[in-house]
Amino acid sequence: MEPRSQVSFPEKKQEIQSQEADATVYMKFMKSHRCYDAIPTSCKLVIFDTTLQVKKAFYALVANGLRAAPLWDSKLQRFVGMLTITDFINILHCYYKSPMVQMYELESHKIETWRDVYLQYSNNFLISISPEASLFEAIYSLLRYKIHRLPVIDPESGNVLHILTHKRILKFLHIFGKKLPKPAFTKRPIQELGIGTFRNIATVQQTASLYDALSIFVERRVSALPVVDEQGKVVALYSRFDVINLAAQKTYNNLDMTMQEAVEKRICCVEGVIKCYPYETLEIILDRIVKAEVHRLVLVDRADVVKGIISLSDLLQAMVLTPAGIDALLS
Ligand code: ADP
Ligand code: ADP
Ligand code: AMP
Repeated sequence: MEPRSQVSFPEKKQEIQSQEADATVYMKFMKSHRCYDAIPTSCKLVIFDTTLQVKKAFYALVANGLRAAPLWDSKLQRFVGMLTITDFINILHCYYKSPMVQMYELESHKIETWRDVYLQYSNNFLISISPEASLFEAIYSLLRYKIHRLPVIDPESGNVLHILTHKRILKFLHIFGKKLPKPAFTKRPIQELGIGTFRNIATVQQTASLYDALSIFVERRVSALPVVDEQGKVVALYSRFDVINLAAQKTYNNLDMTMQEAVEKRICCVEGVIKCYPYETLEIILDRIVKAEVHRLVLVDRADVVKGIISLSDLLQAMVLTPAGIDALLS
């Protein structure tokens, strides 16, 4: 079966020195496993017809405990895109005025009418992958297109089998790659390795409004914001995922609430902020991020001041794509 996504990879470097061979262990693992291998034996999948009202679609995500759904166009008889929490954020940010004014557009838009508005400014095609494609190709697509949801579609039936994420892929490596020899670089401190983002970190003050945070999500396109106090110390982490709480609690009409309130009100399964320090090794960081089941760690100094973000995208770039000669898809 040929992969659906049209991806070409640079040729592997001809001469591989012994040290480099060691560093290629994760790349080889990902090249030798298929997307199919990482699909769980059973999982819930919801598909939305594009004629569904956007508001109902987000309620359906909440009701099913899901983060995203593929979109089916019944006129075209094919999948045309994805609906994710980022789309909910974009809609709220686009139409919110004040707590006193109802967002009629949220009530009236269908998925297809919203897409007509939104797709003028963004990608207009579904990025998907075949179950026979390698996990290496899946990682390449996730990072190349800067998306967090990659539907695995069976080319024969046209059915969506699963939605792959960075989290699922790293967990798969953690479980089935346990016996792999650990490359030397995993013992080195994260800052020395330069894995992550260390400059121009998007943060939000705890006194800022939730609407301010949504504006940062829209403008900077980051997946989460460390919430900070006046000294720049991290007091919480607010991720795009947390915005779905507004649909769950029907509180999206008050985006004037402060970030402190938004953090207090959300239902969050993660206690505190999952952090790391510049001197900690990659090995320790990998273990922490996989066990905590979060998409990123906040890099802080000894005073808890935010110094960086180490996201699953950064880790997969460094461990899998960089050893294959594919550099800096994230910049
Ligand atoms: P989130 O982090 O909220 O789950 P993403 O970063 O994956 O969302 O989505 C960013 C934007 O890209 C959204 O508008 C979403 O609809 C779109 N998108 C996500 N995945 C895909 C995909 N596989 N193909 C096409 N568009 C996608
Ligand atoms: P997704 O699975 O959609 O990528 P995230 O990992 O961003 O979701 O977020 C899932 C939950 O974990 C959210 O409630 C978010 O606030 C929380 N979370 C994510 N990263 C951290 C972190 N580093 N520290 C504390 N909580 C976090
Ligand atoms: P992600 O969207 O989390 O998969 O990350 C994509 C890139 O954005 C990675 O290089 C992250 O380090 C970076 N990043 C994520 N969150 C932030 C943030 N709040 N500020 C700056 N960069 C970020």
